[in-house]
Amino acid sequence: MLTNPLTKNIGQDNVAADINRYMDNDGYRGWRKAHSMAPDDIIELVKDGGLRGRGGAGFNTGLKWSFVPRGEDSPKQKYVICNADEMEPGAFKDRLLMERDPHLLIEGMAITAYAIGASQAYIFIRGEYHLAASRLEQAIVEAKQQKMLGTNIFDSSFSLDIYVHRSAGNYICGEETALLNALEGKRAIPRAKPPFPQVSGLWGKPTVVNNVETLCNIPHLVNLGVEWYKNLGLGEDAGSKIFGVSGKVKNPGAWELPMGTPIREIIEKHAGGMKDGLQLKGLLPGGGSTDFLSTDHLDLPMDYDVIGKAGSRMGTGTITVLDDKTCPVGLVLNLTQFFARESCGWCTPCRDGLPWAVKILERIESGNGSTEDLELLKEQCERIAPGHTFCALAPGAAEPIQSALVLFEQDFINHVTMGACPYHSISTTTPL
Ligand code: NAD
Repeated sequence: MLTNPLTKNIGQDNVAADINRYMDNDGYRGWRKAHSMAPDDIIELVKDGGLRGRGGAGFNTGLKWSFVPRGEDSPKQKYVICNADEMEPGAFKDRLLMERDPHLLIEGMAITAYAIGASQAYIFIRGEYHLAASRLEQAIVEAKQQKMLGTNIFDSSFSLDIYVHRSAGNYICGEETALLNALEGKRAIPRAKPPFPQVSGLWGKPTVVNNVETLCNIPHLVNLGVEWYKNLGLGEDAGSKIFGVSGKVKNPGAWELPMGTPIREIIEKHAGGMKDGLQLKGLLPGGGSTDFLSTDHLDLPMDYDVIGKAGSRMGTGTITVLDDKTCPVGLVLNLTQFFARESCGWCTPCRDGLPWAVKILERIESGNGSTEDLELLKEQCERIAPGHTFCALAPGAAEPIQSALVLFEQDFINHVTMGACPYHSISTTTPL
């Protein structure tokens, strides 16, 4: 049984960067099969498979597709957009897929476009991902030559063009509605939801926006079926997932593992455990905009709802570890500086609130903070909580701060009482 559908072509060499070798390894079989199916049946299959969005939110992918208007009265023009603006701190899984297996993404996008009736698709890619963008452009040319894309695919009436759009940069461009504005050439600020993009998206037309890894799941799900896909997961969630670990572990990296793999196994077995002389102190399970989990959570499976119930989010599934020699206040400050810099400035709580949080954290981290600053920081986080801002950026930024204030409370207090950083080791600019 195939257990590593996402990375089966990644390994010894760049097998998948060449379409012939990709096709020799069953590539584009899912697309051929999907093309022989009714679009509605593909949507049902993806819904039943239980594939959840790998960008971080975990929304059921088939359900999302099913919201696209169908039938005679629906708009003729529809779009598929691949969200490849991977900018979550600690996330590097989509880059791996795009650089090492670009045809898998193209195939997933072709199936998605056919299922929802789109004839145009865009890959909105992070500006710094030069290698991934050029490999995708090359893959699109090859796929067109093989008649997998372009006009009258498989001699049918279905045509599809895919374009690579390199982002001008900014974390907020990964928020799906800000992405739509950016693609339309407007200022990248989020739009109000509803209407959701599936109904009114790019240039007001029905649009499905899916993450790279989500789309890479589609060819194999269609090709090998719902039961196979569900059985890949160990627990509640279906499929496999690219989990990653960064921080002071022996073997930082990314691995395709079953959904539901325990956190302990990811950190201790695949990442090789902490570097010698360091103890694990806490972890961010799915990127910089998630709540810290403690070492008590190590045996939890990486499933969306399980991690949610534990008080955090699985997010991108790329774990950042905190060790006992790294200052948690410094780490949180580093993250908050990033989010403050990346705020689009559209709503006041985010535009002004995040720089205020940075100022308070800087005071505490440098040893110039007071007990009142700790209370002020908590209040500041409440002001940027969900419901107070236009999109999820500021509430996401508040998550590591709020959870650090609880889990590492003594560290914050020590900074205040000692009038200095007890760790003496991390500067605010130390990269994660
Ligand atoms: P969200 O929960 O609002 O939406 C997720 C998806 O489901 C969207 O496509 C949305 O259109 C759809 N959706 C949700 N509710 C719907 C409804 N009622 N009807 C129709 N469609 C609906 O989350 P979001 O704000 O899009 O994304 C937040 C996530 O993004 C966070 O979990 C964060 O971890 C992640 N993130 C990832 C990166 C990265 O680089 N991969 C960067 C920033 C944030």
